[in-house]
Amino acid sequence: MKFIETRGNDGIKPKEVEFSYALLNPSASFGGLYVPDFLPKLDENFFENAKDKSYKELTKAILLKFCIDIDEKTIDKAISLYDDFDDSKNPVPLKKIEKDLYINELFHGPTRAFKDMALQPFGYILSDLAKKQGQNYLILAATSGDTGPATLDTFSNKDNIKVACMYPDGGTSDVQRLQMVTQDGKNLKVLGIVGNFDDAQNALKTLLASSSFKDELQKQNIKLSAANSVNFGRIIFQIIYHIFGYISLLKQRKTDSFYDIIPSGNFGNALGAYYAKKMGLPIKKILIASNINNILTDLIDTGVYDLRQRELLKTTSPAMDILISSNVERVLFDKFGGARCKELMEDLKEKKFYKLTADELKKLREDFDAVYCDDDFAKNTIRKYAKKDYIMDPHTATTLSAYENLRTENLPSIACSTAQWTKFAPTMLNAIKDDDLVYSDEVALDEFSKTLHVRIPESISNLFDKKVLHDKVVDKKDIEQEILNFLKQ
Ligand SMILES: *Cc1c(COP(=O)(O)O)cnc(C)c1O
Repeated sequence: MKFIETRGNDGIKPKEVEFSYALLNPSASFGGLYVPDFLPKLDENFFENAKDKSYKELTKAILLKFCIDIDEKTIDKAISLYDDFDDSKNPVPLKKIEKDLYINELFHGPTRAFKDMALQPFGYILSDLAKKQGQNYLILAATSGDTGPATLDTFSNKDNIKVACMYPDGGTSDVQRLQMVTQDGKNLKVLGIVGNFDDAQNALKTLLASSSFKDELQKQNIKLSAANSVNFGRIIFQIIYHIFGYISLLKQRKTDSFYDIIPSGNFGNALGAYYAKKMGLPIKKILIASNINNILTDLIDTGVYDLRQRELLKTTSPAMDILISSNVERVLFDKFGGARCKELMEDLKEKKFYKLTADELKKLREDFDAVYCDDDFAKNTIRKYAKKDYIMDPHTATTLSAYENLRTENLPSIACSTAQWTKFAPTMLNAIKDDDLVYSDEVALDEFSKTLHVRIPESISNLFDKKVLHDKVVDKKDIEQEILNFLKQ
């Protein structure tokens, strides 16, 4: 399988590349992304026959269908990392919580967010490729809370890789911050940034554009790559759990179609569902749930993606506080082609908005529908289900708005649960007590777990006793020097 570019080719970059190339060099011509030039097809029998496959076996079977240029031994090693999830036989348990609602729990990995599903195997493959090429890579990451811990965890002490991770100081939960600043890998640098997530992300972009920074990297023979979901190396692993979720559903009941509900931010998870649907997974519709940063709801309702007069709002589902949702581009390319995709992306950059035609909107809505909810809805949902003995985090809670409002047929629905409650304990406690008090994560974890008799995994409770190894909070202007100093060590 080859990978092609979403915005056409600039005559400098190669027109089509292998998987490994797209993984190491995720940025394509004109600022576009890499996408597969075809998708393997799975027929009806595939799902029936896959019923007795483990998660790892299914992952391998599907990866082999993609014919990527990664040898089987490396694939085996990469997916063996799922053995370290809570249940090595089934890293993604499917739980029924309503007659027609099933929760696909994607948070059973080391950092308790669904980012581990892709970043664990991805980190192994990237480091392996770097090693085989004898090339050193610097992975830059800006995080609002979940990508940072999962990126640091997967690359910790890996050969040929260094990671510099920036988070907004005061902008993450205590647990998320501690998951980063207590990381002891020798090849990791974590920096708090004065400002919000946008500032951290802008700092990263400034760095990528800085010629002094690039010169210094070149001198040290270090290449740059990225670990966010613009990298197709992550997307490929995000196709699998949608398929496995359906197979798990088939083991619980008979059906030939379902709704797939996704709490969305950068649209990587939703894109995985879209590709799975194109491969033959019988998804009736992909239902996109958002918080009040509802730019995706507007796009799918009206065909207009509009950044004008929009400001990022802080919510209790911070991983979905995002206005520039990068992976929408891959859907636009798939549906409308490279020339149109480039035009739309240029409109977004220059005019801060783009508008689909009525016909284009109709095509988008064949696969997607969308809705959003506010923090009160999420809180009430958490409380309602806690009473019924199901505990969901604030991101997962947004999916109930889609379940309640968007289904037009009585089909089973699978909602993706993207984080464990332990990452957002103060919000959880506010929800069950129906108050607005300010709690620390440590107090909230303790009180919530005692009240509801739920365990806190050791990887979370231990965080508060671990030594803080990265205590630097720096101004934007000092980031470049900090990272260069780190690379020289
Ligand atoms: C990253 C994240 C999301 C958003 O996922 P996308 O693939 O970026 O749309 C939702 N919930 C949680 C908890 C996350 O960490």
